[in-house]
Amino acid sequence: MQAITIQEQDNDFRAEVERRSGQSMVECYQCGNCTAGCPFDFAYDLPVSKIMRLVQLGQREIVLSCHSIWLCASCKTCTTRCPNSIDVAKIMDVLRHMARESGHIKERTVKAFEDSFLASVKKTGRLHEVGVALGYEMRTGRFLTDIDLVQTMVSKGKLSIKPHSMHNSDQVAEIFKRFNGGIHE
Ligand code: SF4
Ligand code: SF4
Repeated sequence: MQAITIQEQDNDFRAEVERRSGQSMVECYQCGNCTAGCPFDFAYDLPVSKIMRLVQLGQREIVLSCHSIWLCASCKTCTTRCPNSIDVAKIMDVLRHMARESGHIKERTVKAFEDSFLASVKKTGRLHEVGVALGYEMRTGRFLTDIDLVQTMVSKGKLSIKPHSMHNSDQVAEIFKRFNGGIHE
């Protein structure tokens, strides 16, 4: 785990996380249950319970610069284990959004995958796997890394070259319109 140098407390940061997540940070009493159940703790540079504490302390730069918020799988184990019913996974989502907005992109391949996924859904109303893979390769420059796998999956009918059609895709477009700006190309 990285050494942390606590900086001046930024209470606006804590207030913004609370406003955007709808959660009360003061409810966290650092029991550590969220970290104990997190399946990605082995890969995190900051455990999720420590992130909660750092948000309480208004440590904007440290929190938004960490890798953990990008590696979180949104599995919600932390949320279900929290004895104070804090939606910890939602807070991790909010932190990742805030990191994107402020240009703290610590895991560029994760961002590239998220962008490709969202661009695909925005375009056709539902996921087009081949489109996501191509978008990811274009964004990362990792061309043809899984080409053998793709060929096998296409030949077995597991992947469709063309996007799937969908009724009412305008409703999905409306969701993106409301969210307005979630994808930063
Ligand atoms: S939602 Fe994220 S932080 Fe919470 S347990 Fe799952 S991977 Fe860990
Ligand atoms: S489980 Fe809940 S109360 Fe315990 S450390 Fe995590 S967020 Fe805080």
